[in-house]
Amino acid sequence: MAVILPQPASMIDTGELLDWYAEAQRDLPWRQPGVSAWQILVSEFMLQQTPVARVEPIWRDWIARWPTPSATAAASAADVLRAWGKLGYPRRAKRLHECATVIAADHGDVVPDDVDTLLSLPGIGAYTARAVACFAYRQRVPVVDTNVRRVVARAVHGRYDAAAASVRDLDDVASLLPDDERAPTFSVALMELGAIVCTARSPKCGVCPLSHCAWRSLGFPAGTGPARKVQKFAGTDRQVRGKLLDVLRGSDIPVTRAQLDVAWLTDTAQRDRCLDSLLVDGLVEQTEDGRFALAGEAGNQAPAGEAGQADSAQSDSAAAEANRRR
Ligand code: SF4
Repeated sequence: MAVILPQPASMIDTGELLDWYAEAQRDLPWRQPGVSAWQILVSEFMLQQTPVARVEPIWRDWIARWPTPSATAAASAADVLRAWGKLGYPRRAKRLHECATVIAADHGDVVPDDVDTLLSLPGIGAYTARAVACFAYRQRVPVVDTNVRRVVARAVHGRYDAAAASVRDLDDVASLLPDDERAPTFSVALMELGAIVCTARSPKCGVCPLSHCAWRSLGFPAGTGPARKVQKFAGTDRQVRGKLLDVLRGSDIPVTRAQLDVAWLTDTAQRDRCLDSLLVDGLVEQTEDGRFALAGEAGNQAPAGEAGQADSAQSDSAAAEANRRR
């Protein structure tokens, strides 16, 4: 006789999840009433692969300074990169600036509310489009990030690890959403559960609000996926790119190659590769005389007296710079 498996929709109790969320949710500024769709979109850009604690102060400064898409679009690319600070993955800052520019120019300074239009904007992918539609416009759309995939894998499918991300995840999560106005809150609550209770390394099953969890019911079977690698930062290209950008953020005028060279002496080939990648990404540009600046600042002039310094440092690394200009 065929075994009828329960449908996923029956396996996460909406009431349990929402009651828990009402009590346990973190007090995050982008969840407060009155926060605009643009400001939520900014938070979603910043939160990609970056912990809340690092994002929060930068987000507060950012929206105080540039509360709308047009205000962001009017800022220079270099100012945007400076304000991004040490959030990492600075291409996000560039894409956010581009996104602001398109929204200001083509959408009346209003963040679009439908997923397809959101997906057409620079820097916005499947997750961010649905997160904005759901959190800013309270639409019933599945919002699937790593936390959500992990909770669903455990509570619904009885697996410790989520399978590789796939387009099926959207249908999987959509099937869990309540079919009423609670859906957006269900989405953020599911994400919150994964962030603070059903965590990757040590799920706190003893305080979990869900009375049914397939993984717990099966007796906590071991994961079958590869062991999670601890992401290292020290010595990576990300660290080196960050150090080079730190030098450029700290100067209002273009800097010499020598000033960048001393930022990373551990591995000069790696440093050169990272500088190349920053140029290719359009985060850094080079002046006519071979110095380097944040995007949009290559035209800034050195004050009298500093130009000579730049020239002499430039001659130290003239060969390398000639290569870079090609
Ligand atoms: S019982 Fe444990 S594994 Fe299941 S959803 Fe809750 S925290 Fe995650």
